[in-house]
Amino acid sequence: MNRVLKSYWGNPSSGYAKGKMSAQIIEKARENVAAAIGAHSHEVYFSSCATESNNALLKTVSNHFYPEKNKIISTPIEHPSVANTLEYLKTKGIDVQYCPVDSSGRVVLKELEAMIDDKTFLVCCMLANNEIGTIQDIKKISAMAKAKDALVFSDCVQALGKIPINVKELGVDYATFSAHKLYGPKGVGAWYAKISCPLEPYIHGGSQEEGMRAGTESIHNIAGFGEACKHVDKLISLSMKNEPLKKMFITELKEIKKDLIVNSPIDNCLVNTINLTFPGISSGELMKMLDYKGVAVSSGSACSASSNKPSHVLKAIGLTDDEAQESIRISFGVKTKDKHIKYALKVMKQYILEEKNVKELNSLVKLKESGL
Ligand code: PLP
Repeated sequence: MNRVLKSYWGNPSSGYAKGKMSAQIIEKARENVAAAIGAHSHEVYFSSCATESNNALLKTVSNHFYPEKNKIISTPIEHPSVANTLEYLKTKGIDVQYCPVDSSGRVVLKELEAMIDDKTFLVCCMLANNEIGTIQDIKKISAMAKAKDALVFSDCVQALGKIPINVKELGVDYATFSAHKLYGPKGVGAWYAKISCPLEPYIHGGSQEEGMRAGTESIHNIAGFGEACKHVDKLISLSMKNEPLKKMFITELKEIKKDLIVNSPIDNCLVNTINLTFPGISSGELMKMLDYKGVAVSSGSACSASSNKPSHVLKAIGLTDDEAQESIRISFGVKTKDKHIKYALKVMKQYILEEKNVKELNSLVKLKESGL
């Protein structure tokens, strides 16, 4: 990226040599992204982030089909960049319906099948959930949609670099990606649109990105995305190595807190993601303490961190508001080591035991005050 910033300053749309050199950087990156997802490079479009990609596809595909077909079927656990775009589309006349998920966050396939009808132009389901890590059976979902002549859109942002992705094998028509989820730069995303599928311009202007997303490209970011995609296989195997660490972490936490609830499913789940409920403990307080001790965890998605509402994902899998407010999401990185997990366990143990002591003391004080 540094090299591109320093030397490839030519505008990729310009005909002079320096411009052509920049254009080559973009096309090389496009090939690398395409190779990482099993697509042809002319099916890959760059954008500023996955939020933009999700907006672009959902809005323009809806525009293409509406009003002849007006129905999208999605899930109640999508990332806010999909969920809020769907809510916006509802105000424009699109009939958005949500297929329920089970307690693991898995789409109830029988219900989905029954919901797809001849008005449905799109089935929209993420490949891996960002809060609990659930991986969906997108192949089956695609087959169901195809049987009823509907297209399939999948937000694959969390999955790239963690599990192998081949858009052709998944059978999806549209998919979205973000570089910063696989150690690439922030500020660049991509979308995949199958060659035969409808696509309309999202940002109008010049002819960049085949006229679908006009505007001079962020070449260094795109180069960074392409570079990250070259390492997808290595990232996946490094991520898989976290499996025993994850098991050890959960087992030891259960020793410390017997009523711990593990919201992430055991099977078909991203290895790096764990969602836990600590009954009786506020996730906000726990997060603050962990942050103070140098352990970065979150509740919900980063995009809804400021809303303070209980997570829509946890509610959809059956948690109460209180349980959702007592839940945190812990993510492992490819550099997470045994010693990091042990340190996190140590500080959590201290906090949980202290919290228990404070609660017991408070109830003793209450008992004394009531004269019992
Ligand atoms: N979709 C999912 C599943 C995500 O986890 C995220 C980001 O966390 C996004 C979309 C949005 O990505 P970006 O930050 O590139 O807009």
